[in-house]
Amino acid sequence: MQLIGQNSNTVYPTNLKIWHGLNFELLDLDFSPKFDPRKTINRAYNLWRYREAIPIDNEAEIVSFEEGFTPLLPITFKDGKSALIKQEYVFPSGSYKDRGASILITQAKHLGIKHLVQDSSGNAGASIATYARKANIACDIYVPADTSAAKITQIAAMGATIIKVQGNRKQTALQAFEAAKVSYYASHCFNPYFFHGTKTIAYEICEQLDWKAPDSIVLPAGNGTLILGAHIGFLELYNLGIIAKIPKIIAIQSVHCCPIFNWMNIPQFNINHYEAAETIAEGIAIPNPVRAIEMVEAVKQTQGTVLLVTDDEIKNTWKEMAQAGFFIEPTSAACIAGLNQYLNGLTKAEICVSLFSGSGLKSIEKISKLL
Ligand SMILES: *Cc1c(COP(=O)(O)O)cnc(C)c1O
Repeated sequence: MQLIGQNSNTVYPTNLKIWHGLNFELLDLDFSPKFDPRKTINRAYNLWRYREAIPIDNEAEIVSFEEGFTPLLPITFKDGKSALIKQEYVFPSGSYKDRGASILITQAKHLGIKHLVQDSSGNAGASIATYARKANIACDIYVPADTSAAKITQIAAMGATIIKVQGNRKQTALQAFEAAKVSYYASHCFNPYFFHGTKTIAYEICEQLDWKAPDSIVLPAGNGTLILGAHIGFLELYNLGIIAKIPKIIAIQSVHCCPIFNWMNIPQFNINHYEAAETIAEGIAIPNPVRAIEMVEAVKQTQGTVLLVTDDEIKNTWKEMAQAGFFIEPTSAACIAGLNQYLNGLTKAEICVSLFSGSGLKSIEKISKLL
Protein backbone atom coordinates (compact mmCIF):
# COMPACT_ATOMS: atom_id res chain seq x y z
CA MET A 1 0.00 0.00 0.00
CA GLN A 2 1.33 3.42 -0.97
CA LEU A 3 0.29 6.94 -1.90
CA ILE A 4 0.56 8.05 -5.55
CA GLY A 5 0.56 11.61 -6.93
CA GLN A 6 -2.08 12.08 -9.63
CA ASN A 7 0.03 14.14 -12.06
CA SER A 8 3.59 12.98 -11.51
CA ASN A 9 2.90 9.37 -10.46
CA THR A 10 5.39 9.91 -7.63
CA VAL A 11 5.08 7.23 -4.97
CA TYR A 12 5.09 8.07 -1.25
CA PRO A 13 5.00 5.71 1.75
CA THR A 14 1.84 5.88 3.86
CA ASN A 15 3.79 6.68 7.05
CA LEU A 16 4.49 10.29 5.97
CA LYS A 17 2.44 13.14 7.45
CA ILE A 18 1.38 14.37 4.02
CA TRP A 19 -1.96 15.22 2.43
CA HIS A 20 -0.66 16.31 -1.00
CA GLY A 21 2.20 15.46 -3.33
CA LEU A 22 4.61 17.56 -5.42
CA ASN A 23 3.23 21.02 -6.25
CA PHE A 24 0.12 20.24 -4.20
CA GLU A 25 -0.98 17.49 -6.57
CA LEU A 26 -3.76 15.21 -5.35
CA LEU A 27 -2.85 11.88 -3.82
CA ASP A 28 -4.59 8.55 -4.28
CA LEU A 29 -4.13 5.42 -2.26
CA ASP A 30 -2.81 2.45 -4.19
CA PHE A 31 -4.53 -0.36 -2.33
CA SER A 32 -6.09 -3.64 -3.51
CA PRO A 33 -7.87 -5.23 -0.58
CA LYS A 34 -8.03 -8.96 -0.02
CA PHE A 35 -11.55 -9.08 1.33
CA ASP A 36 -13.79 -12.11 1.70
CA PRO A 37 -17.46 -11.65 2.75
CA ARG A 38 -17.32 -14.85 4.81
CA LYS A 39 -14.96 -13.12 7.23
CA THR A 40 -17.71 -10.73 8.33
CA ILE A 41 -20.03 -13.41 9.69
CA ASN A 42 -19.25 -13.04 13.40
CA ARG A 43 -18.43 -9.35 13.33
CA ALA A 44 -20.39 -6.43 14.77
CA TYR A 45 -22.70 -4.57 12.38
CA ASN A 46 -20.68 -1.41 11.79
CA LEU A 47 -18.47 -0.28 8.91
CA TRP A 48 -15.34 -1.80 10.46
CA ARG A 49 -16.75 -5.26 9.71
CA TYR A 50 -15.02 -4.83 6.30
CA ARG A 51 -11.65 -4.74 8.12
CA GLU A 52 -9.57 -6.19 5.29
CA ALA A 53 -10.92 -3.57 2.88
CA ILE A 54 -10.01 -0.63 5.12
CA PRO A 55 -6.42 0.65 4.72
CA ILE A 56 -5.64 0.65 8.45
CA ASP A 57 -3.33 -2.00 9.88
CA ASN A 58 -3.37 -1.52 13.63
CA GLU A 59 -6.68 -2.60 15.17
CA ALA A 60 -5.78 -0.98 18.52
CA GLU A 61 -5.65 2.51 16.98
CA ILE A 62 -9.13 2.54 15.45
CA VAL A 63 -11.16 5.69 16.24
CA SER A 64 -14.78 4.61 16.03
CA PHE A 65 -18.24 4.95 17.54
CA GLU A 66 -19.17 1.65 15.89
CA GLU A 67 -20.79 3.74 13.16
CA GLY A 68 -22.28 2.45 9.93
CA PHE A 69 -24.35 -0.46 8.70
CA THR A 70 -27.23 1.98 8.32
CA PRO A 71 -30.63 0.53 7.40
CA LEU A 72 -31.57 0.14 3.72
CA LEU A 73 -35.26 1.02 3.66
CA PRO A 74 -37.68 0.93 0.73
CA ILE A 75 -39.58 4.18 0.20
CA THR A 76 -42.49 4.78 -2.15
CA PHE A 77 -43.22 8.17 -3.70
CA LYS A 78 -46.79 9.51 -3.88
CA ASP A 79 -47.00 8.44 -7.51
CA GLY A 80 -46.14 4.85 -6.65
CA LYS A 81 -42.51 4.65 -7.76
CA SER A 82 -40.11 3.18 -5.22
CA ALA A 83 -36.42 2.76 -4.40
CA LEU A 84 -34.16 1.63 -1.58
CA ILE A 85 -32.81 4.39 0.66
CA LYS A 86 -29.73 4.13 2.89
CA GLN A 87 -30.52 5.93 6.14
CA GLU A 88 -27.25 7.86 6.31
CA TYR A 89 -28.68 10.56 8.55
CA VAL A 90 -28.49 8.28 11.60
CA PHE A 91 -24.71 8.60 11.99
CA PRO A 92 -23.23 9.88 15.32
CA SER A 93 -22.60 13.39 13.97
CA GLY A 94 -25.76 13.41 11.82
CA SER A 95 -24.36 12.75 8.35
CA TYR A 96 -22.61 10.06 6.31
CA LYS A 97 -19.38 12.10 6.59
CA ASP A 98 -18.61 9.97 9.67
CA ARG A 99 -17.66 7.11 7.34
CA GLY A 100 -14.74 9.14 6.04
CA ALA A 101 -13.89 10.80 9.36
CA SER A 102 -13.51 7.48 11.20
CA ILE A 103 -10.86 6.21 8.79
CA LEU A 104 -9.13 9.58 8.21
CA ILE A 105 -8.80 10.36 11.94
CA THR A 106 -7.60 6.81 12.68
CA GLN A 107 -4.80 7.34 10.16
CA ALA A 108 -4.03 10.82 11.59
CA LYS A 109 -3.73 9.30 15.07
CA HIS A 110 -1.48 6.57 13.70
CA LEU A 111 0.78 9.24 12.16
CA GLY A 112 1.03 11.01 15.54
CA ILE A 113 -0.77 14.15 14.33
CA LYS A 114 -1.49 16.52 17.23
CA HIS A 115 -3.19 19.35 15.34
CA LEU A 116 -5.24 19.44 12.15
CA VAL A 117 -7.31 21.80 10.05
CA GLN A 118 -10.44 21.28 8.01
CA ASP A 119 -12.89 23.47 6.11
CA SER A 120 -16.52 22.80 5.52
CA SER A 121 -19.96 24.21 4.93
CA GLY A 122 -20.87 22.30 8.08
CA ASN A 123 -21.21 18.53 8.06
CA ALA A 124 -17.65 17.52 7.24
CA GLY A 125 -16.42 19.98 9.89
CA ALA A 126 -18.84 18.59 12.50
CA SER A 127 -17.79 15.07 11.67
CA ILE A 128 -14.02 15.71 11.74
CA ALA A 129 -14.40 17.68 15.00
CA THR A 130 -16.30 14.77 16.57
CA TYR A 131 -13.69 12.14 15.68
CA ALA A 132 -10.76 14.45 16.48
CA ARG A 133 -12.33 14.92 19.94
CA LYS A 134 -12.42 11.16 20.42
CA ALA A 135 -8.79 10.83 19.29
CA ASN A 136 -7.69 13.83 21.39
CA ILE A 137 -6.37 15.76 18.39
CA ALA A 138 -6.72 19.56 18.42
CA CYS A 139 -8.52 20.93 15.39
CA ASP A 140 -9.33 24.21 13.68
CA ILE A 141 -12.45 24.22 11.52
CA TYR A 142 -12.85 26.95 8.87
CA VAL A 143 -16.45 27.75 7.97
CA PRO A 144 -18.12 30.44 5.84
CA ALA A 145 -19.52 33.10 8.23
CA ASP A 146 -23.09 32.30 7.10
CA THR A 147 -22.92 28.58 8.04
CA SER A 148 -26.03 27.37 9.86
CA ALA A 149 -26.00 28.10 13.61
CA ALA A 150 -26.77 24.46 14.44
CA LYS A 151 -23.65 23.22 12.64
CA ILE A 152 -21.40 25.87 14.23
CA THR A 153 -22.79 25.01 17.68
CA GLN A 154 -22.17 21.32 17.07
CA ILE A 155 -18.54 21.98 16.03
CA ALA A 156 -17.99 24.22 19.07
CA ALA A 157 -19.48 21.59 21.39
CA MET A 158 -16.82 19.17 20.17
CA GLY A 159 -14.14 21.57 21.40
CA ALA A 160 -12.83 22.58 17.98
CA THR A 161 -11.65 26.10 17.27
CA ILE A 162 -13.97 27.76 14.74
CA ILE A 163 -12.59 30.26 12.25
CA LYS A 164 -15.42 32.13 10.53
CA VAL A 165 -14.36 33.31 7.09
CA GLN A 166 -16.02 36.41 5.64
CA GLY A 167 -16.60 35.04 2.17
CA ASN A 168 -17.96 32.07 0.29
CA ARG A 169 -17.18 28.37 0.41
CA LYS A 170 -14.25 28.78 -2.01
CA GLN A 171 -12.58 31.54 0.01
CA THR A 172 -13.03 29.42 3.14
CA ALA A 173 -11.26 26.50 1.47
CA LEU A 174 -8.39 28.74 0.35
CA GLN A 175 -7.85 30.00 3.89
CA ALA A 176 -7.85 26.48 5.32
CA PHE A 177 -5.49 25.40 2.54
CA GLU A 178 -3.01 28.11 3.64
CA ALA A 179 -3.29 27.11 7.30
CA ALA A 180 -2.82 23.45 6.35
CA LYS A 181 0.67 24.15 5.01
CA VAL A 182 1.91 24.18 8.62
CA SER A 183 -0.56 21.63 9.98
CA TYR A 184 -2.30 18.49 8.66
CA TYR A 185 -5.25 18.89 6.31
CA ALA A 186 -8.04 16.53 7.31
CA SER A 187 -9.77 17.51 4.08
CA HIS A 188 -12.62 15.37 2.81
CA CYS A 189 -11.60 16.42 -0.72
CA PHE A 190 -7.79 16.16 -0.66
CA ASN A 191 -7.15 13.40 1.84
CA PRO A 192 -7.43 9.98 0.15
CA TYR A 193 -8.21 8.18 3.41
CA PHE A 194 -11.60 9.88 3.54
CA PHE A 195 -12.69 8.14 0.33
CA HIS A 196 -11.66 4.75 1.71
CA GLY A 197 -14.17 5.46 4.47
CA THR A 198 -17.03 6.63 2.28
CA LYS A 199 -16.50 3.57 0.05
CA THR A 200 -17.92 1.38 2.84
CA ILE A 201 -21.39 2.51 1.72
CA ALA A 202 -20.87 0.31 -1.37
CA TYR A 203 -19.84 -2.67 0.78
CA GLU A 204 -22.90 -2.25 3.00
CA ILE A 205 -25.35 -1.90 0.11
CA CYS A 206 -24.00 -5.03 -1.56
CA GLU A 207 -24.08 -7.01 1.68
CA GLN A 208 -27.66 -5.84 2.33
CA LEU A 209 -28.59 -7.07 -1.16
CA ASP A 210 -27.07 -10.50 -0.43
CA TRP A 211 -23.74 -9.56 -1.99
CA LYS A 212 -25.25 -8.31 -5.22
CA ALA A 213 -24.85 -4.87 -6.77
CA PRO A 214 -27.89 -2.69 -7.45
CA ASP A 215 -28.51 -1.57 -11.06
CA SER A 216 -28.09 2.10 -10.24
CA ILE A 217 -27.15 4.39 -7.38
CA VAL A 218 -28.37 7.98 -7.13
CA LEU A 219 -25.92 10.21 -5.24
CA PRO A 220 -25.47 13.93 -4.51
CA ALA A 221 -22.58 15.59 -6.34
CA GLY A 222 -20.85 18.26 -4.26
CA ASN A 223 -17.18 17.47 -3.66
CA GLY A 224 -17.74 13.88 -4.75
CA THR A 225 -16.93 12.10 -1.51
CA LEU A 226 -19.87 9.76 -2.06
CA ILE A 227 -19.54 9.39 -5.82
CA LEU A 228 -15.82 8.66 -5.69
CA GLY A 229 -16.03 6.61 -2.50
CA ALA A 230 -18.90 4.48 -3.83
CA HIS A 231 -17.07 4.04 -7.13
CA ILE A 232 -13.92 2.81 -5.36
CA GLY A 233 -16.01 0.42 -3.24
CA PHE A 234 -17.96 -1.09 -6.14
CA LEU A 235 -14.78 -1.40 -8.24
CA GLU A 236 -13.00 -3.26 -5.43
CA LEU A 237 -15.92 -5.66 -4.98
CA TYR A 238 -16.07 -6.20 -8.74
CA ASN A 239 -12.33 -6.82 -9.01
CA LEU A 240 -12.59 -9.31 -6.14
CA GLY A 241 -15.29 -11.18 -8.08
CA ILE A 242 -17.86 -10.60 -5.33
CA ILE A 243 -20.28 -8.61 -7.52
CA ALA A 244 -20.88 -9.17 -11.23
CA LYS A 245 -21.40 -5.56 -12.35
CA ILE A 246 -20.83 -1.95 -11.31
CA PRO A 247 -24.01 0.09 -10.82
CA LYS A 248 -24.65 3.18 -12.93
CA ILE A 249 -23.79 6.30 -10.93
CA ILE A 250 -26.51 8.94 -11.25
CA ALA A 251 -25.13 12.24 -9.94
CA ILE A 252 -27.49 14.95 -8.70
CA GLN A 253 -26.69 18.68 -8.80
CA SER A 254 -28.65 21.88 -8.32
CA VAL A 255 -29.48 23.88 -11.46
CA HIS A 256 -27.85 26.79 -9.61
CA CYS A 257 -24.55 24.96 -9.15
CA CYS A 258 -23.83 22.25 -11.73
CA PRO A 259 -20.15 22.10 -12.71
CA ILE A 260 -20.16 18.33 -13.34
CA PHE A 261 -23.26 18.53 -15.52
CA ASN A 262 -21.71 21.40 -17.52
CA TRP A 263 -18.39 19.59 -17.87
CA MET A 264 -20.17 16.59 -19.38
CA ASN A 265 -22.54 18.55 -21.61
CA ILE A 266 -20.82 21.78 -22.71
CA PRO A 267 -17.67 21.24 -24.82
CA GLN A 268 -16.03 24.61 -24.06
CA PHE A 269 -16.86 24.59 -20.34
CA ASN A 270 -14.02 25.81 -18.08
CA ILE A 271 -14.62 24.74 -14.51
CA ASN A 272 -11.95 27.08 -13.10
CA HIS A 273 -14.00 30.12 -14.08
CA TYR A 274 -17.33 28.70 -13.01
CA GLU A 275 -19.33 30.54 -10.38
CA ALA A 276 -22.54 29.30 -8.88
CA ALA A 277 -25.74 31.00 -7.78
CA GLU A 278 -27.40 30.37 -4.41
CA THR A 279 -29.41 27.25 -3.73
CA ILE A 280 -31.22 25.83 -0.74
CA ALA A 281 -29.03 22.71 -1.16
CA GLU A 282 -25.98 24.30 0.53
CA GLY A 283 -24.16 20.97 0.99
CA ILE A 284 -23.81 20.37 -2.76
CA ALA A 285 -23.17 24.00 -3.77
CA ILE A 286 -19.53 23.37 -4.71
CA PRO A 287 -18.62 25.26 -7.93
CA ASN A 288 -15.03 23.94 -8.33
CA PRO A 289 -14.64 20.51 -6.70
CA VAL A 290 -10.94 19.59 -6.64
CA ARG A 291 -11.63 16.05 -7.87
CA ALA A 292 -14.08 17.12 -10.60
CA ILE A 293 -12.34 15.20 -13.38
CA GLU A 294 -12.55 11.99 -11.34
CA MET A 295 -16.26 12.61 -10.75
CA VAL A 296 -16.86 13.02 -14.49
CA GLU A 297 -14.92 9.79 -15.14
CA ALA A 298 -16.86 7.84 -12.50
CA VAL A 299 -20.19 8.86 -14.05
CA LYS A 300 -19.00 8.13 -17.61
CA GLN A 301 -17.32 4.80 -16.82
CA THR A 302 -20.46 3.47 -15.17
CA GLN A 303 -22.74 4.65 -18.02
CA GLY A 304 -24.39 6.99 -15.55
CA THR A 305 -25.63 10.53 -15.98
CA VAL A 306 -25.98 13.87 -14.18
CA LEU A 307 -29.47 15.21 -13.41
CA LEU A 308 -30.33 18.72 -12.23
CA VAL A 309 -32.94 19.75 -9.68
CA THR A 310 -34.54 23.13 -8.98
CA ASP A 311 -35.07 24.63 -5.53
CA ASP A 312 -38.82 24.08 -5.97
CA GLU A 313 -38.32 20.37 -6.65
CA ILE A 314 -36.09 20.20 -3.56
CA LYS A 315 -38.69 21.92 -1.37
CA ASN A 316 -41.52 19.70 -2.62
CA THR A 317 -39.47 16.55 -2.10
CA TRP A 318 -38.42 17.71 1.36
CA LYS A 319 -42.11 18.11 2.26
CA GLU A 320 -43.04 14.74 0.83
CA MET A 321 -40.31 13.05 2.88
CA ALA A 322 -41.34 14.92 6.06
CA GLN A 323 -44.90 13.73 5.49
CA ALA A 324 -43.55 10.18 5.36
CA GLY A 325 -41.73 10.70 8.71
CA PHE A 326 -38.22 11.41 7.45
CA PHE A 327 -36.63 14.54 8.92
CA ILE A 328 -33.77 15.26 6.50
CA GLU A 329 -31.69 18.26 5.45
CA PRO A 330 -32.73 20.24 2.36
CA THR A 331 -29.42 19.12 0.78
CA SER A 332 -30.52 15.51 1.29
CA ALA A 333 -33.85 16.29 -0.33
CA ALA A 334 -31.98 17.47 -3.45
CA CYS A 335 -30.67 13.96 -4.01
CA ILE A 336 -34.13 12.45 -3.47
CA ALA A 337 -35.69 14.96 -5.90
CA GLY A 338 -33.11 13.74 -8.42
CA LEU A 339 -33.99 10.14 -7.59
CA ASN A 340 -37.64 10.92 -8.33
CA GLN A 341 -36.67 12.40 -11.71
CA TYR A 342 -34.50 9.39 -12.49
CA LEU A 343 -37.24 6.88 -11.65
CA ASN A 344 -39.68 8.87 -13.84
CA GLY A 345 -37.39 8.42 -16.82
CA LEU A 346 -36.98 4.65 -16.46
CA THR A 347 -38.48 2.41 -19.12
CA LYS A 348 -38.02 -0.83 -17.20
CA ALA A 349 -37.77 -1.68 -13.49
CA GLU A 350 -34.36 -1.48 -11.80
CA ILE A 351 -32.92 -2.05 -8.36
CA CYS A 352 -32.09 1.53 -7.56
CA VAL A 353 -30.46 2.74 -4.32
CA SER A 354 -30.15 6.28 -2.99
CA LEU A 355 -29.65 7.82 0.44
CA PHE A 356 -30.70 10.34 3.05
CA SER A 357 -27.31 12.03 3.50
CA GLY A 358 -27.91 14.30 6.51
CA SER A 359 -30.28 15.03 9.38
CA GLY A 360 -32.85 17.85 9.40
CA LEU A 361 -31.63 18.81 12.87
CA LYS A 362 -28.67 20.45 11.11
CA SER A 363 -30.80 23.01 9.25
CA ILE A 364 -33.56 24.07 11.61
CA GLU A 365 -33.50 27.71 10.41
CA LYS A 366 -33.87 26.80 6.74
CA ILE A 367 -36.51 24.19 7.46
CA SER A 368 -38.63 26.50 9.57
CA LYS A 369 -38.91 28.71 6.47
CA LEU A 370 -40.20 25.72 4.50
CA LEU A 371 -43.05 25.02 6.91
C1 LIG B 1 -21.32 16.58 2.12
C2 LIG B 1 -22.74 16.38 1.89
C3 LIG B 1 -23.26 16.16 0.61
C4 LIG B 1 -22.42 16.27 -0.63
O1 LIG B 1 -21.67 15.18 -0.86
P1 LIG B 1 -20.28 15.14 -1.62
O2 LIG B 1 -19.82 13.81 -1.28
O3 LIG B 1 -19.42 16.25 -1.14
O4 LIG B 1 -20.49 15.25 -3.07
C5 LIG B 1 -24.61 15.87 0.50
N1 LIG B 1 -25.43 15.85 1.57
C6 LIG B 1 -24.97 16.10 2.81
C7 LIG B 1 -25.92 16.11 3.95
C8 LIG B 1 -23.62 16.36 3.02
O5 LIG B 1 -23.17 16.60 4.25
